[in-house]
Formats: sequence, structure tokens, C-alpha cells
Amino acid sequence: MPSLYDLSLPELEARVVALGAPAYRARQVWHWAYTRLAASYEEMGNLPHALRARLAETLPFPDARVVRTAASEDGLTRKHLLRLHDGVRIETVLMLYDPRSDARGRATVCVSSQAGCAMGCLFCATGQAGFQRNLTTGEIVAQVLGFAREQRDAGGRPITNVVFMGMGEPMANYAAAWGAVERLHDGLGLGARHITISTVGHVPGIRRLAEARLPVGLAVSLHAPDQGLRERLIATAHRYPLDEILDACRIYTERTRRRVTVEYCLMAGVNDDPAQARALAAALKGMLCHVNLIPVNPTPDASIRRPPRARTLAFQRELAARGVPCTVRVEKGVEIAAACGQLAARTPTPRDERSVPVSIAGAVS
Ligand code: SF4
Repeated sequence: MPSLYDLSLPELEARVVALGAPAYRARQVWHWAYTRLAASYEEMGNLPHALRARLAETLPFPDARVVRTAASEDGLTRKHLLRLHDGVRIETVLMLYDPRSDARGRATVCVSSQAGCAMGCLFCATGQAGFQRNLTTGEIVAQVLGFAREQRDAGGRPITNVVFMGMGEPMANYAAAWGAVERLHDGLGLGARHITISTVGHVPGIRRLAEARLPVGLAVSLHAPDQGLRERLIATAHRYPLDEILDACRIYTERTRRRVTVEYCLMAGVNDDPAQARALAAALKGMLCHVNLIPVNPTPDASIRRPPRARTLAFQRELAARGVPCTVRVEKGVEIAAACGQLAARTPTPRDERSVPVSIAGAVS
């Protein structure tokens, strides 16, 4: 059964009309859902009781319950472990940027697009745990609206950005991910430039994004300057050669006039050599892009370590010297296991969970 957030406004209108109510009732529901951030039909006081009851029966809110929350000491990063209707668990993270260092005062939600992931990145707890299932559009949207309600109830900043960088490969679940983009844009009112889809190099997905109606951001996780190393780090990298990924990125930049964010997870002794930085600069030559260097988060695999700071900065200098714009990512939430899959990996079996609906602020921690 679809959930409320699965439907576009025209689809919702059709559904409401099929229930015997006028189409304007759908616009009221839409307003309650995305502007007033209602968590149930009960809150929609200007709708007839009978319509609310029928909608609750036939078009429920997504069942996504917070079973665990971790927050960073500075209070700027908050991560929820959610349990969905069938018991699978996913993670979602809110990152508030300190207004003293981020003039825009961003409040960014990092959403999961799949439960688990089939891409098999060596350094990722989610990838090592395997794939469970695709999320629906509604389940992705619910992650954002849950945090939006918490922020509203706490008098905090509204959500300003959404990044598809949590569990899963969004391009492998393109239709649902794109549906969520449309709901966040058309319903919540987020600008396309404030939404970023991240991929580990899914070429057909990048090509589709290049032609999409909304110019959302693209982040591509390369992690290596050559195909051989990529295949060692990412179990599925053989599917899409690096050259094809870069060609697809160039098409994206030509069509959208937007730069690509290249994610590069730095691992000591694996991909952090200055010679590898030079090779990366050569591969990216002429491309409208920006490289984000991400010192790897701690993983259960002790052989994967983050490089010393000096090594990271040396890598950055090599790129900068060759005209490649590059920053070292601000690390947020390391102490709360904010890297995807880590909270799930550390959380006990469902029998031990205490749960509250995602719509309720002050989740269990
Ligand atoms: S890093 Fe992303 S693409 Fe790779 S396994 Fe983890 S969730 Fe999947």
C-alpha cells in the first residue's frame, strides 16, 4: 500500500477524488503534510472526519520509528536509527552547521535510499553488511520530514539541504529517489540546488540525472585515481569503468552547468600517496568539479586507517597545484558513528529496542 509521501500532488488529487471528495481537499492535505509538517491525519482539523478516516486507512503515513538516537557533544549532529514497517532498519543524520563558520547556517539531512547496500565498499559498514531492500519514496521523504518536525518543535532552523549520502546507492533505486527529490522540491519547497544525489559511479543514473527536470547536485565517490584500485576498494566497480564514469560526469556538467563534487575517501597507505593525487588531477583535467577529501571514518576493519593530517594536506596541495579545487571535509559526528551503517552495526536486535514514532520529538537515545 502506498503512503501519503509516495504520491505527487496530482496523484493525491486523483486519490481524494476517487474517495468522493473534491480535489481541493488534496491540496489541503498536501499543505498539512509539507508546510504544516503534520504527523497524522488527526491534525488536519479542516478536513471532514470521514475523509481523514478513509485516508488513514488507504493512504497511511510511512511507518518509520526512531529506535535509537545518537547526538554529537556539540549538539550539531544527530543520527537516528529508524525501524520501518517490515522491521528493516535504516539510518538518517541531521547535520547543523555552526552559523559562525557557515554563513548560510545550513541544516542538512543525509538520507538513506536503500536498507543496506549492494555496492560493497571495503571501508563502509553498510556495504559490508549487504543489501536488504530498496526504500520507497515515502520512506525517504519521511526521514527528512521527521527531522523537520523535530527542528520545528525545538524552535530550531528549518531543513535547508538534503543529501542522498546515507545507506545505499540512490542511482540503483532511481525512481524512488527521484520521487523523493520531487516531493522535497514541490512539497517542502527545497531548491534543486539544495539537494544532492551521491553515487559510487552508476553511469546510467548519472546520465539520467543529466537530463532530469530539476538541476540537483551530483556527487560521485571515486576514492581512487585508476580502475585497478577502484576495483579493490569497491566490490562492484568492475561494472562501470572509470573512463565511462568521468564521461558521464562531463555530460552532466555540460547539460546542467553545475560542477560535480568528487568524493575521495582517504585511507592511509591505500590511496593517499602524492603520486595518486597527481593521477587523480590528471583524470579530472578540464572537468568542472570540486574534490572533497574525506579522511576515512573508523571501521571495524583495523587495517583501514585514516592518514595523518599532514599526509591529507599534502594530497590536497598536489591537487590544488594542478588547478583542481579541493577541500578537506569538515568532520561531523565521528564520535556518534555518523558514517553510514555504523549505528546499525552497533545497535542490538529488534527485541531490545524501545521505539517511538518518528514524528515524535525527543527520540529514544
Ligand atoms: S559507501 Fe555508499 S555505495 Fe559504498 S557500500 Fe557504503 S552505502 Fe554503499
